[in-house]
Amino acid sequence: MSSLYIHIPFCKQACHYCDFHFSTSIRKKGELVSMLCEEIRLRKDELPGKQLDTIYFGGGTPSLLSSEELKQICDTINNNFEVREDAEITLEANPDDLTLENIKIFKKAGINRLSIGVQSFFEEDLQLMNRAHNATEALESIQMAKQFFENISIDLIYGIPGMSNERWKTNIETALSLGLPHFSCYALTIEPNTALKKMIEKGKVKPVDDEAARAHFDILTMRLKEKGFTHYEFSNYGKPGFFSENNTAYWFGKPYLGIGPSAHSYDGENRKWNISNNTLYMKSIEMGKLPLEQEELSTTDRYNEYVMTRLRTIWGIDINEVEERFGNLYKTHLLNEASNEIKLGLLKQNENVITVTKKGKFLSDGIASNLFFIN
Ligand code: SF4
Repeated sequence: MSSLYIHIPFCKQACHYCDFHFSTSIRKKGELVSMLCEEIRLRKDELPGKQLDTIYFGGGTPSLLSSEELKQICDTINNNFEVREDAEITLEANPDDLTLENIKIFKKAGINRLSIGVQSFFEEDLQLMNRAHNATEALESIQMAKQFFENISIDLIYGIPGMSNERWKTNIETALSLGLPHFSCYALTIEPNTALKKMIEKGKVKPVDDEAARAHFDILTMRLKEKGFTHYEFSNYGKPGFFSENNTAYWFGKPYLGIGPSAHSYDGENRKWNISNNTLYMKSIEMGKLPLEQEELSTTDRYNEYVMTRLRTIWGIDINEVEERFGNLYKTHLLNEASNEIKLGLLKQNENVITVTKKGKFLSDGIASNLFFIN
């Protein structure tokens, strides 16, 4: 199982909470796309085997790609890999880019899953976050996308300053009324060096309230469960058959190749990441040099990552797998540390699998860090 990630590092405007790598100057988009294609050619042998099972266009804003640019990238992928016949091919799109014409272009290019950055159906939330779309566009874009795509996910953000439980419930009901098979829902986090952080420091925006976020999470998990969604990862909810294959492969530690500025790659042992600067990225690729750094993960790094990612999923930590992959020392450590969390009612063990309980769900990252192995 192998995955390809393509990072499109351009956005129309900077959302106030975002710390991803992107540029709002799209002047060099065409040139950068050519360099992405060149990077694909340079790195085509890095993945084990030739077959791609999932392809993910993320960003940034991949829906800013023109039909020619998208075709250029897809052709390069097809010329350098064998794409599994039913591979999951996702494109992240913002509602303001989803015109009927663009939706048809994405479909024609072979995209079979759309991940739409809705975030909220309320104008005040969208303005606070400086999103480029409005609430009407959010709704209309989904209605249009549904005419051509069955596999659609939308992103929603909760815990936004000033967002009441009622407003969050309305967002959930609006989302549910659209009949979509998948939702990704994130608690708003305030990252360093973002506009939102500065606005909070200056007292222009209320700080994020952790209790409110917790309440929103509980409302969300309860309501989506009632509606037949499986909460298969901390931020992801899917109907059967619609879990994100790409993300699931990542949580299971499968290899992936990340193309484009700031993109990360993993081959099972090493993690690599490209430079987060469009100009330096392009210069380097032009010279045939990969603009990346890498680190070899130690057994402890890999164990800690395994615990962190798997505890966020319904599949949990497989004790036998821990022993097989990391050794008896790590298994013994895991069982010792997990027993405390089990006594507290935050973890449960069913045969060989440890998962978070309902009580521990919102706290899974903190619980995972208690299970970490510290050298
Ligand atoms: S569109 Fe997405 S990547 Fe771009 S600034 Fe907004 S949140 Fe960040």
